[in-house]
Amino acid sequence: MNGHKELERQSRFERGDDVVVMKFGGTSVEDAAAIRRVIGIVQSRLKAHPVVVVSALARVTDQLLEAGTAAANGHLGAALAMVRDIYVRHEQLADSLVDGSAYSALDDELRGDFRALESLLLDLEASRQLNAKSRDHLLGFGECFSSRLINEALCQAGIHAVHVDAGACIVTDARHGQASPVWDVTEQRLQEAVSPLLQSGAVAVLGGFIASTGDGVPTTLGRGGSDFTAAIVGAALCAARIEIWTDVDGIMTADPKLCSDARVIRKMSFDEAAELAHFGAKVLHPATLAPAMRENIPVFVLNSRRPEREGTEIMARASRAKTKIGNAVSAITAKRNVAAVDVQSARVNSELLHTVYAVFDRHACVVDVMATSLGSISLLVDSASALPAIAAELRGVAEVRWENHKALVCLVGENIRRQPDVASRAFAAVSDMDVRVVCQGASDRTISFLVEESKVEESVRRLHGIFFPQPQPVRDWGGISSAYCQAG
Ligand code: ADP
Ligand code: ASP
Ligand code: MG
Repeated sequence: MNGHKELERQSRFERGDDVVVMKFGGTSVEDAAAIRRVIGIVQSRLKAHPVVVVSALARVTDQLLEAGTAAANGHLGAALAMVRDIYVRHEQLADSLVDGSAYSALDDELRGDFRALESLLLDLEASRQLNAKSRDHLLGFGECFSSRLINEALCQAGIHAVHVDAGACIVTDARHGQASPVWDVTEQRLQEAVSPLLQSGAVAVLGGFIASTGDGVPTTLGRGGSDFTAAIVGAALCAARIEIWTDVDGIMTADPKLCSDARVIRKMSFDEAAELAHFGAKVLHPATLAPAMRENIPVFVLNSRRPEREGTEIMARASRAKTKIGNAVSAITAKRNVAAVDVQSARVNSELLHTVYAVFDRHACVVDVMATSLGSISLLVDSASALPAIAAELRGVAEVRWENHKALVCLVGENIRRQPDVASRAFAAVSDMDVRVVCQGASDRTISFLVEESKVEESVRRLHGIFFPQPQPVRDWGGISSAYCQAG
């Protein structure tokens, strides 16, 4: 009877109907009050068998980068002082969240990790360089610290939490700084490490962002990559849902830091949300939705400061009526730091296109948009850092020129391209801004254009004002009060 029950339980976890992956970003774990909120949120989900994925505490990844850069530039004293501050911050949090012998054990672990971090800084100072490989090793410490701390804080609150080393489970290629998972091995390792814990009733706690190659060399999934970790874990365990807990009420019609009147989008399709993330909406790492889409796992974006709010649900199909926004545009976003590249050659043909694409790919230079015309190929890329090497490699085949400090402003919405007035209204709104390229996305879901980076905020605000106008006050003819019209 017991054996039968066990089998039943096991197959349930294999199908994963009960598992919820909950990812908490840096601001959601930034201090003791935030971590206490996380504990409350996890407690509210215990029946759903949570797997918790955490980012480094807010600002820590940037501080590690700064310390590593200082060490590589020969300023070891400054670098050590910076990581000492990081250590003190974690230790103070440990002190306020964890008691007694658990505190001593946690402190020993943190000290051990900090010694390893200090010795890495010594190596960086000796070698005088911070390359992509050592940068991954360095930045990963943030998630190692935070995941241990939060695991112990959950245990202290009476939750049976067990720390799982994400670096050992998530196996990637060796593209340092932007690694991609090797799916089969990762899936197997996650299932082996996490499923038995869930079966025993424990909550698994993993650091986001960190991974390693098959040979055990530390890698990372790219900045903001903890969202991607949550999706990888969710897909490997066939979770019932993936929750991205952050500092805003959900995915909004624009970055609320740019448009204070941005509104929450209640439901979105995977495709729309993926476009939004690809075109710069920081709220989701661009790779997050692919694993969830593949396994058809709904993703929720929720506010850890206001857990009672509904947030955004991202699913296979989200009908327009459900978004409650009555126009073709779901959201407006912008991607900064874009370079506009012009590749000129006497022979633009499919062979040249193939060569050019292969060279960009080899240099890990992400191409956002590509267009061809007689004698030239225009590309928009994420960063100009690889362009000198790319130009050198293509010398003799084509001439490569580029301009930096551009931004790609993007309107996203299902079938947006089939609405002829959207492009013309958008274009009219920014016609005084030296708009350089207008790209109708191949997918039907985006219209984007290039502006000077200095104009990005103004363009997003203008477009948001046009496509999401503020409700207009209307006179209540009863003369007693005023009411508001519904927008759109
Ligand atoms: P976390 O640390 O939780 O991963 P991030 O800072 O990476 O959080 O992402 C959340 C931030 O994304 C928000 O504070 C907001 O400023 C920004 N953001 C950009 N575009 C959007 C959008 N369309 N909707 C919501 N937030 C957005
Ligand atoms: N800590 C990493 C970063 O700041 C990953 C993340 O927060 O998702 O980029
Ligand atoms: Mg993030």
